Amino acid sequence: MNHLSVLYRGPLASCNYACGYCPFAKHTETPAEHQADADALTRFTDWVWLQRFEVSVLFTPWGEALVRSRYQAALSRLSTMPHVRQLAIQTNLSGKLNWLEGAERSKIALWATYHPGETEQQKFLDKCAELDGYGVRYSVGVVGKKSHLGAIEALRAELPEHVYLWVNAFKVGDGYYSAEDLERISRVDPLFEVNTRRYRTRGRDCAAGESVISVDGDGTARRCHFIERPIGNIYASDVRELLAPRLCSRASCECHIGYVHLPELQAESVYRDGLLARIPDPALWADPQALAAYLDRARALPVVGRAGGRRVESVTLHKAAPLV
Ligand code: SF4
Ligand code: SF4
Repeated sequence: MNHLSVLYRGPLASCNYACGYCPFAKHTETPAEHQADADALTRFTDWVWLQRFEVSVLFTPWGEALVRSRYQAALSRLSTMPHVRQLAIQTNLSGKLNWLEGAERSKIALWATYHPGETEQQKFLDKCAELDGYGVRYSVGVVGKKSHLGAIEALRAELPEHVYLWVNAFKVGDGYYSAEDLERISRVDPLFEVNTRRYRTRGRDCAAGESVISVDGDGTARRCHFIERPIGNIYASDVRELLAPRLCSRASCECHIGYVHLPELQAESVYRDGLLARIPDPALWADPQALAAYLDRARALPVVGRAGGRRVESVTLHKAAPLV
């Protein structure tokens, strides 16, 4: 093993926005809770520093972390570590970005989500322009509520062409999307279809737990955010001893941060080093055959439900997967 991706989620669970589809909306924390999150973050960055193999990190907070100076400092610090390959964080992009001046920006990429109703489109676009000014890569996403369709199309029209705008399927029930909705969204995000399905994953190979793990604030390591059972603790043992090829034990997998680790999907062939921040490789993005092959691989996977057209089993927003 010469490289490990870690999805880090500390105790922080708060946000400055109030999205109706999110359990962390407008939640605040006590000073003691903030301190506990800061301590956990320092411990984690110290741990990364001590590893003797390459590490990439995707921060997947329960809420908005990038408005906090401690997360900005942690990203800056990690970015200067020679053995850190890629860093990404899920953010609503509402925070200041000038901390990027002190960071090794080539290693940082942002998973930025636009929340119509919580901010103005122009304000969000200004932040995107700031990222472009810093030369920092990013993807932009929107939760695919039907009421967001106009805002999604308007955002696509204004975003720079080089920016991938993904749409997360709003998986709330039977046939939520009409054929026309699906067509409209797919015109914006040609890979949207991949996110509309709940893949039947139990018993299938998955790299989660082998080349990518999820770690929480006390160091508990899990295969992914969706399988509760820990595989160990990174502070109690050499993480390499926790890693092994495994079959998925969950009935289904429906989030990008999960299913992209299914070897059958070969998502890395589309995203390459943009995988953690959901940024397709520009060369592959320009190759219709490569994209069509990715869609075909996704279609070949068995599903337990989908958000458009056919029956979808009841789906609720997964607490472990905030739509940041
Ligand atoms: S398929 Fe999804 S739920 Fe199963 S191990 Fe992989 S990431 Fe986890
Ligand atoms: S979806 Fe994201 S931006 Fe909206 S309230 Fe939740 S954490 Fe905040």
